[in-house]
Amino acid sequence: MLGNVLAETPGVFHAGELRFLWLNGVLGTGSNGRCGCGADLAACPLWSDVLNAVRPAGRTPAEHAADVVSWQATCRTRHTWRVRNRPAVGRWPETLAATYHAIAAATGARVVVDSSKYASDAALIAHLDGVRPAYVHLVRDPRGVAWSWLRPKDYTGRRGVLNSNWHWIGFNLAAEAVGRAHPETYLRMRYEDLTHDPRAAVARVLELIGSPGAVNPVAADGAVELGDNHTVTGNPNRFARGPTVIREDLGWRSGLPRDKRMLTTVMTFPLLQRYGYLRDM
Ligand SMILES: [Zn+2]
Repeated sequence: MLGNVLAETPGVFHAGELRFLWLNGVLGTGSNGRCGCGADLAACPLWSDVLNAVRPAGRTPAEHAADVVSWQATCRTRHTWRVRNRPAVGRWPETLAATYHAIAAATGARVVVDSSKYASDAALIAHLDGVRPAYVHLVRDPRGVAWSWLRPKDYTGRRGVLNSNWHWIGFNLAAEAVGRAHPETYLRMRYEDLTHDPRAAVARVLELIGSPGAVNPVAADGAVELGDNHTVTGNPNRFARGPTVIREDLGWRSGLPRDKRMLTTVMTFPLLQRYGYLRDM
């Protein structure tokens, strides 16, 4: 949602969860093969141009997509620290850099928002030629995250509470590690603060990406007018169009069973405290 709001600013393009372009869009074995424009990713004019631009001669789209997915396996969240500390070498860094440049060429965008959520890729982009990174580390209360994962969705899998908590801890520690290496271009933001005052939160991000004077797409009442987008996978709210109000999803407060809530609080306690969630108990 934040990516789609930012994309209402001139010069900003939101790619969605770009990492899944090949798995979902070409191989069709991911969670969701539709672009935010409604077309199949491989049939979307934008993504078919980008996919063709980064595919080497002599490889079919399916062969290349299988290659990319295997290269991505060398850059997972657990590799974030290693990727952060070493120069980027290998086919996935080359492919990701070429993809960003192809997107910029096809869209004319100055800023490409990639909401893939892999801290390893976030660490990687600081090493890519011609790419200047800016990071938004968006944190949500892990009890809200656990509740969200418990509910079945048609665009992603389901996780148990233990699994959700381990992932939440790992993803946040990895994101913090990237932030420590790039404090001047790193912004940590809570989902709850974003939904409480989206206009102020978006203003902070516009400043981060070097557009402090841009017209804020969020009105004073928290409403935003959403246009078309070309996003790779993600929450189905990416298909929303027209006037949209951003609101916090508070379902976990009544829905998450008490034992699961306690388990999450205990497991995530140090980070819960660091991110200021203990005040909300
Ligand atoms: Zn599209």
